[in-house]
Formats: sequence, C-alpha cells, structure tokens
Amino acid sequence: MSEIPPLILLIEDDPQTRRFLKSSLMHRGWRILEADNGKTGLALVHSDNPDLMILDLGLPDMDGISVMKKLRQVSDLPVLILSARSQEQNKILALDAGADDYLTKPFGTGELHARLQALLRRAKRTVSSEVFETGELKVDLVNRKVFISGNEVRVTPIEFRLLSILIRHAGLVVKHHELLKEVWGSEHINDQHYLRIYMGQLRHKLEINPARPRYLLTEVGVGYRLAVD
Ligand code: CA
Repeated sequence: MSEIPPLILLIEDDPQTRRFLKSSLMHRGWRILEADNGKTGLALVHSDNPDLMILDLGLPDMDGISVMKKLRQVSDLPVLILSARSQEQNKILALDAGADDYLTKPFGTGELHARLQALLRRAKRTVSSEVFETGELKVDLVNRKVFISGNEVRVTPIEFRLLSILIRHAGLVVKHHELLKEVWGSEHINDQHYLRIYMGQLRHKLEINPARPRYLLTEVGVGYRLAVD
C-alpha cells in the first residue's frame, strides 16, 4: 500500500528561494503548492487542505505573523517559519502566534528535510510510542528509564519530565516558557535559570561532551531542541 506523499504549502515571495525549496521538496517526492503572498497562501489552506505550511516572515502584502494569527483561528496545520537573521524578534513572535518551528536563512536541504519530517511525524502520531531512540540514546517512556549505549542512566523525576517533553517534540524547538510551564507550572514561566540548571545536569548525564551537545541542543533566545538522526 503506497502512501500519498504530503502536500506542502510554500508561502514565499522570493522566486529564487521558492525555486530552491520547490525543487528540493519535489526531489523528495513531496507535492507542492505555491503562493507568493499571504492572502493567496491562506486561500490555498482552505481550498486545498495541505499537510504542512512553510511560511516566509517577510511577505509583500502582510507579514508572516499576521498570516500565523489568521491561520490559527481556523486551523492547526503544522507551520515551519523561514526567517532572515534580521528577523530574530519576529521569529519569536511567530512562534508565540502558533508557528511550530523555524529555520533561519540560509539553510541547507538536509536541515530543511529534517525539520519537515519532524513536523509531519508529530502531526501523524496520535499515540506516542513507548520507546524513543536516537543515536546512542534510548528512553523507555512507560517504565521511565533512560539508556546511553545500553547502559542505564539515572535521572531525577524533573529531568525525566524535561526529557519526555523534548521527546514529544523530537526534532522541533520547544520554547523556554513551554518547558517551564509544563514542568514547574505557569507561575514559573520566567524562571529560565531552572532550565539552565536542569538541562546542564541532563547534558552531563547524556552527552559525551556536555559543552558540545549532540542531543540536547540550545536554540539561543528561544528554547531547546532534541536532535534526532
Ligand atoms: Ca520574503
């Protein structure tokens, strides 16, 4: 039984970037819908029901944040933001408006495909699987056990909660305040030092070189990401 390839809606006004994205995604066998402005893009969400949106933040008719806000009133379609380096603040606003992840230009096809796969995987998954594995890391989510290269690593309940949230969003960025809210409660959403301490502990337990982590990546000014193979 062959699966229908995912339909990706690409909202980007720069023809060169659009061409690059299109050829890269089509090469992968995915189907593409294109829009060079926000209004057309939103209309395509309604008419064609895509599986995922790639959204450039700088559009000619309306900015990406407004597109996000309008979209989230009607749809929970997964959205990957494309931002320029100069749009760091907008990137965070777009995430707050409901975007799921972002890529900063310029980016490579490998990175792009990994992010899209992670988004599609999360969208498809109705029941989370019981064992998560990437590289040497293995986490038994039912029995709450963590292994590196087959050896059990002892983690505290808080460390385990942090790790399991990152696993639920594997490959995708999770914002500081989401982690703080889920682990410590909404009264602690500004206590970023909690995260630094506990992520530091987790890295010491799980990473070969905690200063250059392979799994638990920092997204500066935004949050953390669990890297997947
Ligand atoms: Ca643009």
